[in-house]
Amino acid sequence: MQQTTRGGITRRFSIGAGISAITMSIASRAWATEPSPPPHDGRKIEASGGGDLPPDYKNIDPKTGGQKAYAVLTPEERAKGFVRPYRDTYTHLRCGTSTSMSKDIAETFAADPKFYNAAYCVHCRGLYPLKEFVWAGTNEMVGS
Ligand SMILES: [Zn+2]
Repeated sequence: MQQTTRGGITRRFSIGAGISAITMSIASRAWATEPSPPPHDGRKIEASGGGDLPPDYKNIDPKTGGQKAYAVLTPEERAKGFVRPYRDTYTHLRCGTSTSMSKDIAETFAADPKFYNAAYCVHCRGLYPLKEFVWAGTNEMVGS
């Protein structure tokens, strides 16, 4: 886990946002992001956590403000290599809260930074464009 101490951008270790982020990621397992149109280049996708992606996976769960399920590249596709470092926590610039995602979503980001076009914030409880997020502890925009 990396320290995120840049000038007030993240509050990962503060009581409020930090605890809720951890609690919620355990509760609902997967995070982040609505995929861009599913890849049409033959790559295989599945649901985060494994299994087939339900047809209504993009429906918003009113309890979390996140999607019912999230698409990821299959383990075989992810095993072909990453074009970015593995990172599993990003910070919402609008509110300063960091959100962690599941390993398969983080690996999908690393394998294809353009796979998703939105990310979930545990504080704002909704999906927002990637331009509102940076990888925790950096100024690097998520999706770039
Ligand atoms: Zn937020």
